[in-house]
Amino acid sequence: MNIQHYKQRLLDLEKTLSARIRQEADHGRGEFIDSAHDVGDASVADEVASEEFTEAEHNADVLQQVRDALGRVEDGTFGTCIVDGGPIEEQRLEAVPWTPHCLKHAQRLEVEASSRTPTL
Ligand SMILES: [Zn+2]
Repeated sequence: MNIQHYKQRLLDLEKTLSARIRQEADHGRGEFIDSAHDVGDASVADEVASEEFTEAEHNADVLQQVRDALGRVEDGTFGTCIVDGGPIEEQRLEAVPWTPHCLKHAQRLEVEASSRTPTL
């Protein structure tokens, strides 16, 4: 596995995501202030702003995972599953370079996460 290749991708992602988070935070705020001021209907602007904040939050989540992955590059544990220490599929790393789980454990976690969702 070519660690340098993934490290470079992670560094690029870190840069892109931080820039996007800053932009979205600014844009979300600007939108809220402008529309509330012009239209006098704060609820619509509020909705738009909160959607963008949610997107920014998602980016912040991924950014955190990208940084964790860069930490694993430094530790020499990048590319191994944090559950069982087994190798993560290269195809998977190519698609999601920040993933800390092999396909098997990622799927298991997904199932667990969805079964934890409270049903009413
Ligand atoms: Zn695993």
